[in-house]
Amino acid sequence: MKLLSVLTQYGTRSLDRAFSYTYSGNKRVEERFRVLIDFNGKNIVGFVMKVSDTNSSIEELEEINGYKIKEIVDVIDVEPLLNDSLMELATEVSSYYMAPLISVLQAMLPKTLSPKLSSLKGPKIAYEKWVELLRNDETDLTPKQIEMLRLIASSGPVLKKDLGSPTVLNKLIERNLVRLVSKERRRFQIPEEEIEKGHEMTVEQRNAYDYILSTDKKVILLQGVTGSGKTEVYLRLSEKILNNGKTVLMLVPEINLTPAMVEYFIRRFGPKVAVIHSELSPGEKYDEYRRIAKGEAKIVVGARSAVFAPLSNIGLIILDEEHVESYKQENSPYYHARNVAIMRGEKEGCKVILGSATPSLETKARANKGIYGFASLPHRVNEKALPNTSIIDLRDRKNYTKKSEKLSRQLLEAIKNNLDNGEQTLLLINRRGYWTTIICPQCGHIFKCPCCGGSLTYHKEDQMLKCHHCGFVDHYPHECPECHSKNLSRTGYGTERIEKELNDIFPGIRVARLDSDVTKVSTKMDKVLKEFHDGKYDVLVGTEMIAKGHDFPNVTLACVVLADIGLNMPTFRASERTFQLIAQTVGRSGRSHKTGVAMIQTYNPDHYSIALGAKQDYEQFYLREMQQRRAAQYPPYVYMFVLEFSCSNEERLVKVAYEFKDLIKTENFENVSIVGPIIPFYSLINGKYKRVLLIKYKKREGLDLFVKNLVERYNGKSGIEISLDVDPMDY
Ligand code: ADP
Ligand code: ZN
Ligand code: ZN
Repeated sequence: MKLLSVLTQYGTRSLDRAFSYTYSGNKRVEERFRVLIDFNGKNIVGFVMKVSDTNSSIEELEEINGYKIKEIVDVIDVEPLLNDSLMELATEVSSYYMAPLISVLQAMLPKTLSPKLSSLKGPKIAYEKWVELLRNDETDLTPKQIEMLRLIASSGPVLKKDLGSPTVLNKLIERNLVRLVSKERRRFQIPEEEIEKGHEMTVEQRNAYDYILSTDKKVILLQGVTGSGKTEVYLRLSEKILNNGKTVLMLVPEINLTPAMVEYFIRRFGPKVAVIHSELSPGEKYDEYRRIAKGEAKIVVGARSAVFAPLSNIGLIILDEEHVESYKQENSPYYHARNVAIMRGEKEGCKVILGSATPSLETKARANKGIYGFASLPHRVNEKALPNTSIIDLRDRKNYTKKSEKLSRQLLEAIKNNLDNGEQTLLLINRRGYWTTIICPQCGHIFKCPCCGGSLTYHKEDQMLKCHHCGFVDHYPHECPECHSKNLSRTGYGTERIEKELNDIFPGIRVARLDSDVTKVSTKMDKVLKEFHDGKYDVLVGTEMIAKGHDFPNVTLACVVLADIGLNMPTFRASERTFQLIAQTVGRSGRSHKTGVAMIQTYNPDHYSIALGAKQDYEQFYLREMQQRRAAQYPPYVYMFVLEFSCSNEERLVKVAYEFKDLIKTENFENVSIVGPIIPFYSLINGKYKRVLLIKYKKREGLDLFVKNLVERYNGKSGIEISLDVDPMDY
């Protein structure tokens, strides 16, 4: 009989330990196999950590363990899910992020291999389900149901997975308003392109390349202005590594937003490339995973989770646009792909390149200190100057015409000019929707989200009020619920309203919009980007997703319509994000043979992140922002843990948060300060109150274990849930 030590699929802290099971069947079972187990009367998936032969009887084993020992229900896998080095990486990630190992494994493995029950139902063949409209009838539907029905009615058949809530969808199906259709999926195939030779490297590129290969630094920041040809350096280095018989891991923020990078790699390396793409079906992901694990692919290109790709013999890891925040997972285990890439590089003994035009402060500070190596590409390849950028002061009435309260005189003139010349314009407004604030001037009632207290935005497309924070939806109000006044005041604006305004001011103008309302239907993003690229539109209005990485040769005007939106966000990164967004947007203009201009509209023209963003002066910004961070003691001057407590009983919540703080304080850790309990911006979500403790520290030894133990001790007790985020993005 075999004795198995098994982690359960539940990633909760109280269950973050192995349980004993026996197996007396004759299937092969080893470490890192999944098994089906009976846990508290329910069949779930377990992950085998250890197997040993035993001669003891069940009774003896139960005596030792102190609980009933059962036989597993079945063995699921026929070979181990992970190799040694990935298992070590998982353990290290789990320990750094103080997250249950099983949650790391679940984040690491493709859906069909994940240690959880739902993985077993996952189809391995590539079918996908579409939802089609049968009848457009909104009678008796809830706002959520109406929102979904309107989306389907306006976009034609929609992929089921794009729709979100299955409960809402099932209601629509039950009522015969829509139906499911199964279609065989278009297999994602690497297009057979002719292998391209690439450019001869410029002197700057060659210098960076030589430095990266010869330095003994393990992590290297490659800082190059937009258009400086970082990609060619990545490609040349990859070529070199492949020729040495090793493999390459290439990470990008989002495949959808960076199709060009994928194409470059495919055109250069053909079938040696595997792409881990969120559009792949579970079956296809499984295939790619197997292909990589078997050593058939030599280069893996993918987003965040690709940092766990089962490549062996890695010779180089590249993380492009290292400053982009989508590298950080927003739920447990809260890992950051940049950090994991560095851990993995250390294990594999290979170099890690962090590329960016505007590096994160953390990375830049380490490069300046000499912890990381540094290579730079200070000029654009084609010597094209960066666009001429003007800042427009929205406080000054002289800058307005009668036509608009949002788009300045200068901007309207420039758009008109571009229309006349057949050139394209990019307008960034980092907020979606039509009206962002609705209040009753009669009695002062503010329309707020009943679930989280966030403000409700009116969306013109489906005429609903929505909460951008928690997803709450309601009908558009025709009167005030308090005093029944019909005279509501609607202010604030987002992408939809700018789109409308352009159409009103310039009859016949062709405007496309791109924000997460549009890209809810996943095929639309590619479509809009491609059509804009091909000149089917004069203007593209959108949120930050239009500022990233795209190369639109005919764009000669880029404008941030309201640069102040991010400045007041309650996070220490507000200035950094504002700077990044402005610098990125400016960088979209005038990339090809025509010289471009850029405009930044703002109420804070003197704010350093706006003034320096407009100039794309990264170095000055870095110095200014580092002063701020030091004064306020934020990263990179300190490290942070964030503990979020939530509970339906506010009194108990506050008591525990203070208790926690006191317990940590009495330990007298050196250089540790605790901020809070803070009432976070969204302090009540779906009936649960929230409080946050922010722990700032310089050395983590001792503190980490102490905090982890505390969390384990308190979590789940008396209705209090605690989440722990190591190196949080915000606060
Ligand atoms: P970045 O990623 O640094 O913003 P890209 O890698 O997109 O810049 O390069 C900008 C443009 O320059 C691309 O169109 C690319 O094909 C071109 N390019 C890169 N290196 C060279 C080179 N050595 N010679 C000529 N063109 C190059
Ligand atoms: Zn009212
Ligand atoms: Zn809400």
